[in-house]
Amino acid sequence: MRLILVGPPGAGKGTQATRLVEKYGIPQLSTGDMLRAAVAAQTPVGLKAKAVMDAGGLVSDEIVVGFIRDRTAEEDAKNGFILDGFPRTLAQAEALDQMLNENGLKLDSVLELRVDQTQLVDRIIQRAADAKAAGQPVRKDDDPEVFKQRLEAYNRDTAIVVPYYEKSGLLSVVDGMQSIDEVSASIETVLQGLDETV
Ligand code: AMP
Repeated sequence: MRLILVGPPGAGKGTQATRLVEKYGIPQLSTGDMLRAAVAAQTPVGLKAKAVMDAGGLVSDEIVVGFIRDRTAEEDAKNGFILDGFPRTLAQAEALDQMLNENGLKLDSVLELRVDQTQLVDRIIQRAADAKAAGQPVRKDDDPEVFKQRLEAYNRDTAIVVPYYEKSGLLSVVDGMQSIDEVSASIETVLQGLDETV
């Protein structure tokens, strides 16, 4: 099964992706995680990406498409994957289509976690507080000001991928304002509906 989770930062894509990994045994491919690993390892890509990420902007299509190209070719992704945070631009969505086509593969579903953006900033402040209370590091880009930049980047560059997938009939909208368990249940309902065709 090949899935995409799309939605603004803080919509819960990462949380739901983790649950889907457990349930379906396919890997979560998060370009955000890959970039953070590159930053931590101080690779040339990481060094280039750091300032953009810290400011809440988007890293170049070329870099993230390269990550996804390499990662989807790995053995554990052969039976499927969950894309979290990719594609984030129309060019990335088109590159993904091309990549899949070249390999005779298809996406099964694109799940949009739709949320009330006015509540997202509160949610992100909570996420930072929870991480702190659990003794975990707080993401630098979860700072409310940087978060607003990430939200702007979503509305400017990423929101357009939703109609792109709607046109291809792959899109299902899930109410991301529900509880985590309810969102998981809604996703499950969508995926069960795919069973006959997957
Ligand atoms: P995330 O963990 O998905 O919220 O990503 C954290 C940051 O990494 C984003 O704010 C961007 O700066 C960068 N990033 C992650 N995925 C992408 C992508 N597909 N395209 C461009 N930049 C990305």
